[in-house]
Amino acid sequence: MRSYQLTGFETPLAEATEPLPEPKGAEVLLKVLGAGVCHSDVHIWEGAYDLGHGRKLSFEGRVHFPLTMGHETAGEVVATGPDATGVKPGDKVLAFSWIGCGDCPVCAGGQENYCGRPRFLGVNRAGGYADHLLVPDARYLVPLDGLDPVKAAPLNCSGLTTYSALGKLGADLSRHMLVVMGAGGLGLMALGLMGMMGAKGAVVVEPDPAKREAALKAGAVAAVDPGAEDAAAQIRKAAGGTVHIVLDLVGSGSSLDLGIELLARGGKVVVVGLLGGDVTIPVPYIPMRAITIQGSYVGTLEELRALVDLVKAHGLPEVPIECRPFAEAGRSLADLRAGKVVGRVVLTP
Ligand SMILES: [Zn+2]
Ligand SMILES: [Zn+2]
Repeated sequence: MRSYQLTGFETPLAEATEPLPEPKGAEVLLKVLGAGVCHSDVHIWEGAYDLGHGRKLSFEGRVHFPLTMGHETAGEVVATGPDATGVKPGDKVLAFSWIGCGDCPVCAGGQENYCGRPRFLGVNRAGGYADHLLVPDARYLVPLDGLDPVKAAPLNCSGLTTYSALGKLGADLSRHMLVVMGAGGLGLMALGLMGMMGAKGAVVVEPDPAKREAALKAGAVAAVDPGAEDAAAQIRKAAGGTVHIVLDLVGSGSSLDLGIELLARGGKVVVVGLLGGDVTIPVPYIPMRAITIQGSYVGTLEELRALVDLVKAHGLPEVPIECRPFAEAGRSLADLRAGKVVGRVVLTP
């Protein structure tokens, strides 16, 4: 099998050729049909998250080289271990990537994505930037039942992340206009999913005019430039006067600052983006305005199954997808880093 591997931070991906692994136990070998290139892979490539004030959260010691990245993988089952159940060769599936140790109270509660000993595909073990992928247990495969594997691959991260974050806004989603910070891959995915989830509507906040245009095409009621002097006033007006719910898909100091400033009493901001930075919050704001700041990190296997069911019923969200060969994994990361991708790049055979 041929893989494109990270062999050191900030170094070009290296092509590696190895014999095809033979699945043991409940393992399943997939032929990769689509591998989404996600912005979090850019952070892994860089080796750190920016924490603001010059501080960094390093991946040193958490990432083991060589690493085949790629955590948005759809594929076709080519071989199964003797204990693998529920799938057979030829099945087209999505490989859930947020796999925990399977052994701790967090995993027992179904939140493997929050496990302290993760085995995430493409982060802690080999992922989808390769022509084949070994999945540790058949139970992590979600059948596509006719969904296009290339279009469905991004459901595993950008789809699941936005679905889980939108889920944390609960019934408020149908009552209040949502403010969405960022109209990259996640933003367009959020706009696509919101309609299926019965949301009232969204005001998008995005500095790039091309991405604002894409957001309006994807159904946003308004798209505001956060660089405008009266940005907060424009957003409030477009949201109907007050803002109760914010989805921060950027996750920078300035995006969260604006999100918190916008919130009316009882409001909630869910932070998903990982661009980096920090915020200073006047403590009285928290009790006096009774605001909630909640983080959300990818999602659970159960949420991925629910998301795939939702998409089977309503169709895939319209996110622009550009297919590129596996060998262009490195160039795709560079383009994403430079902000040159609208929608999603998916690596295909
Ligand atoms: Zn991702
Ligand atoms: Zn665990």
